[in-house]
Amino acid sequence: LLDAAMRRLDQRDEWSSYPAVHVPRHPAEKHLRGLVIVVDPGHGGTDGGDADPRPDYKTGPTGVKEAHMNLRVSLLLERLLTDAGALVVMTRRGDDTIGLAERAAIANGYVHPDGRVGADLFISVHHNAGPPTANYSSVWYHGEVDWSEPDMDVAREIAHQLGWALRTDVAKTSPILSDQLMYDSGFAVLRHCRVPAVLLESSFYTFPPEEQRLKDAFHNLREAYAVYLGLCQWAYNGRPTQQHPVVTLRDAGIEVEIELNDGLPAWWGKDRNRILSSTIRVTWDGKPVSADFTPAAKRIRVRLPTTVGRGESGAGILGVHFCNMLKNSNWPQRYRVSWSADPSGPISVHPIEPIRAGTPSTRPAT
Ligand SMILES: [Zn+2]
Repeated sequence: LLDAAMRRLDQRDEWSSYPAVHVPRHPAEKHLRGLVIVVDPGHGGTDGGDADPRPDYKTGPTGVKEAHMNLRVSLLLERLLTDAGALVVMTRRGDDTIGLAERAAIANGYVHPDGRVGADLFISVHHNAGPPTANYSSVWYHGEVDWSEPDMDVAREIAHQLGWALRTDVAKTSPILSDQLMYDSGFAVLRHCRVPAVLLESSFYTFPPEEQRLKDAFHNLREAYAVYLGLCQWAYNGRPTQQHPVVTLRDAGIEVEIELNDGLPAWWGKDRNRILSSTIRVTWDGKPVSADFTPAAKRIRVRLPTTVGRGESGAGILGVHFCNMLKNSNWPQRYRVSWSADPSGPISVHPIEPIRAGTPSTRPAT
């Protein structure tokens, strides 16, 4: 019995041989139900679409347009996610011209039925250009790794699935990359997003065989399905969050108590701690402060290194970071805490996400 399997290993497939397109529903797609996902087909209209007068702009060697392949993949992804029960908002459904800030604004301004503002996720779908032999999958996050942890949770799952499904050179580079490698200020569409956001460069339309494949809707489906699988895996890893921080004025200082939520199913194991205590990091204006973690209660307690004096108002940024046991990071991660001159007055605490503006990188773009 084993001999036959061993003999099969004598004739191993080439990595680049494509299996047939199969699109079974992933059992974990149930974790996508109810999420609002903005799918953004890159370019279009006067930017690389049919209305663009530049004949070679964002086109492959035989003239296949990136804008069009982005849209095909996005429409297939929309269908896969909608079938899973997610609510998908498309930034374009035709060959339309849409600005980069406008695309992000669709995600930032989405209003949920409960009044919460901001989509759960923004995904911009692109294909890459480069030297004629390059072909690999990459997924991009904004800025520094510490600015974009929840974005990278999504990016790494999608990037792995894309590389495997599209049979590109997965070992070429790290599959997830900072947009500041391209521009000092990163990609505008990601920089403008105030919700978790990633940008896919799924494969290279400048690689002649890949350009031909990208004309094929079934190859587009192979790609859309890989993104769907990545999203199933991401959602399956849980989406950790926390209760709104409770602040208490004590001895002219501020104590903060926060109940953490591992974001994992309320099933077998839910009574155990599923938060990695080594990943808990609390900061005040960017500087670490020590936090007491009580695993049984899933609570952290912090005394902020600041005083609330009579007649003095003040404010600062409280950062809260942790990962669940599947290594997904919490969202949101930052709050603005402010108080007025009246020390008995209320202390206000507002989530602010994310800090993407930052200081532009001083490194030259490469
Ligand atoms: Zn593009």
